[in-house]
Amino acid sequence: MSAPWIDVTVPMRDGMVVWPGSPPVEVRQVDSLEKGATCATTALRFGSHTGTHVDAPGHFLRGGAGVDRLPFEGLIGPARVIDVGGGPALGPDELGPHDVGRGERIILRTSNTPRCWRTDEFVADYAHLSRAGAEHLVARGVRAVGIDYLSIAGGAESAATHAALLRAGIVIIEGLYLAEAPAGLYDVICLPLLVAGGDGAPARVLLRSRP
Ligand SMILES: [Zn+2]
Repeated sequence: MSAPWIDVTVPMRDGMVVWPGSPPVEVRQVDSLEKGATCATTALRFGSHTGTHVDAPGHFLRGGAGVDRLPFEGLIGPARVIDVGGGPALGPDELGPHDVGRGERIILRTSNTPRCWRTDEFVADYAHLSRAGAEHLVARGVRAVGIDYLSIAGGAESAATHAALLRAGIVIIEGLYLAEAPAGLYDVICLPLLVAGGDGAPARVLLRSRP
């Protein structure tokens, strides 16, 4: 029997933490059974990079593909969760020992998981991939990279780090919660909302341990 699927998605809810300047998340019931409506309906408002989400090339590259054109090969298949510590900047020194290989889907498990999601306040000193770390993954030819807070990158290098990954066709998955997913081999399913031409979209992400 195969192992159970583990949900590594952060639940979307009213007032949850967002990237500074991004639209606040609103989850508001507009029709309620308790108030006499025949069915319950909720109005949702959120930015394209809310919670657990995927970055499309068009997030940083002019003319880049939308989230609706991301390759399924980047989003679904074998994956490896690696423990890379607290950084905050994670580069070749942290990645090197894991000997990342061509075609891998790599999920960076950092100190963000226990530290950053406890609060609805944005945590500014989150662990992230450095530009040199991104170039390391590009050189190794990975298909996808994930991380456990709202951005794969940080600081002054953020745009260059994103662009290096996206230009190489690497799928970026952000905002994972990895408390139940220790380092190891998994299958991953990541399905972002199909927003036509979107620069990103919230996604449901599941991992299943592989023998
Ligand atoms: Zn994003």
